[in-house]
Amino acid sequence: MADTLNTELVVLGGGPGGYAAAFLAADRGLKVTLIDAAVKPGGTCLFVGCIPSKALLHAAHLITDAREAGAFGLTFAPPKIDLNVLRAKKDKIIDLNASHLLELCKKRQVTFLSGRGVFTDPATIQVEGGATVQFKNAIIATGSVPTKLPGLTLDSARLLDSTSALQLENVPATLLVVGGGYIGLEMGTVYAALGSKVTCVELTGGLLPGVDADLVRPLAARIKSQFHQVYLNTKVAKLAEVKDGIRATFEGDLAEKEQTFEKVMVAVGRRPNSANLGLDKAEVDIDQKGFVKVNEQRRTTNPNIFAIGDVAGEPMLAHKASHEGKLAAQVIAGEPLVWDPRAIPAVVFTDPEIAWCGLTETEAAKQNREVRVARFHWAGSGRAMTLGRSDGVTKIITDPKTDQVLGVGLCGPGAGELIAEGVIAVEMGATSKDIALSIHPHPTLTETISEAAETLHDLASHVFVNRKKVL
Ligand SMILES: Cc1cc2nc3c(=O)[nH]c(=O)nc-3n(C[C@H](O)[C@H](O)[C@H](O)COP(=O)(O)OP(=O)(O)OC[C@H]3O[C@@H](n4cnc5c(N)ncnc54)[C@H](O)[C@@H]3O)c2cc1C
Repeated sequence: MADTLNTELVVLGGGPGGYAAAFLAADRGLKVTLIDAAVKPGGTCLFVGCIPSKALLHAAHLITDAREAGAFGLTFAPPKIDLNVLRAKKDKIIDLNASHLLELCKKRQVTFLSGRGVFTDPATIQVEGGATVQFKNAIIATGSVPTKLPGLTLDSARLLDSTSALQLENVPATLLVVGGGYIGLEMGTVYAALGSKVTCVELTGGLLPGVDADLVRPLAARIKSQFHQVYLNTKVAKLAEVKDGIRATFEGDLAEKEQTFEKVMVAVGRRPNSANLGLDKAEVDIDQKGFVKVNEQRRTTNPNIFAIGDVAGEPMLAHKASHEGKLAAQVIAGEPLVWDPRAIPAVVFTDPEIAWCGLTETEAAKQNREVRVARFHWAGSGRAMTLGRSDGVTKIITDPKTDQVLGVGLCGPGAGELIAEGVIAVEMGATSKDIALSIHPHPTLTETISEAAETLHDLASHVFVNRKKVL
């Protein structure tokens, strides 16, 4: 007969939200059980998300850098790509990380159970084919799954989602990416660098819908040379398997309404993974979109059950999940905390990268909020020129009355690393003058942040603001 375990805290889902919560709760002295359907913790992020995609993007960047080194007088032969080695490298990175997480479970005496868990009542989870776990508190951290569009499902190995695209079965001669969001563009970048002719179709009028247009512009320009085609304002109405590929039927303002591709990847978003968890039996409510309803402490409608990460709301990002997980663990351990971040950074790991945090110009416009924006184009950055990449832009969004930094946005190589300065500035309530007066190292891309701030205080060197004209 299967065991019955009694635990102070059970965490359902071992992704970056779930394991962060389990580890912190154990560090606070709680008896913790972590359940995941997979054999090791890590979740979407580690197995089929952030980590494998970035490993492949690193390979893509190496290819692109080698190809573009001609400008510096260096010419390399076209790369020989051994997909088996590339795949094995990616899998090794995943396995090392997952094994490390399992080791950390042991060190912290977190009981890890592998199997699908379902709530059977407000204080019990049944693990499929395994233990019955009775808990004092629970955290739901079951993440999200790719959205499937009714018209675009096809029982075909040629139809990929992000998970199967990451398996890198082959490099198709032609690849259609349906969806110009970050997952579609990141995977499109990988396949384009490896040699696929990539066509991207986006329903709205721009790539990365919702992201400030000035940040997207340099990426959109460069993608033109990386991808075969980008169709905006275009809908994929139908997909049908044909002899040598998938025929896509497009609706929109383009000449060729039917085109055939060797493979098609659908990346049209993700939805919360809240179905079939027995949430009704646990007395946990979900909203219309399927997100678990939570309060500012991430407590659900059952006061002993919390929900965090992708399953508990946007933005669906790993670092947001981890922070929520840690918050819930601390609340369960008795600490009086609430969820109140000013700046959740978002990064698109394309080439160039795009990153932002805090208030965006798009949001400010929606809120009718007056802001002051300082922009620094990387054409003025010595460091950007040494990298052969002066196509970037950095901007700081401030409150016109107080000069407080409300948001930061970047587009350019390394934007994902640079945005951390913006996060600290927004969270610490810094003013743009604080940034302008902080000495940034030369020559680095961080200077694009200080130079943007300097333009607001007549301190900039590498941009000329004609004050006579302004006055
Ligand atoms: C291709 C791709 C690239 C991405 N890149 C980035 C990136 O660069 N940066 C970033 O911040 N985010 C990225 N994300 C998003 C990121 O992966 C998620 O936001 C993050 O993983 C959410 O963490 P989580 O803990 O909420 O859930 P997940 O990581 O989804 O983990 C949920 C876990 O719950 C388990 N589970 C589900 N149901 C059950 C059940 N009934 N019983 C037991 N276990 C269950 C699953 O097996 C899974 O392991 C990417 C996603 C994808 C798909």
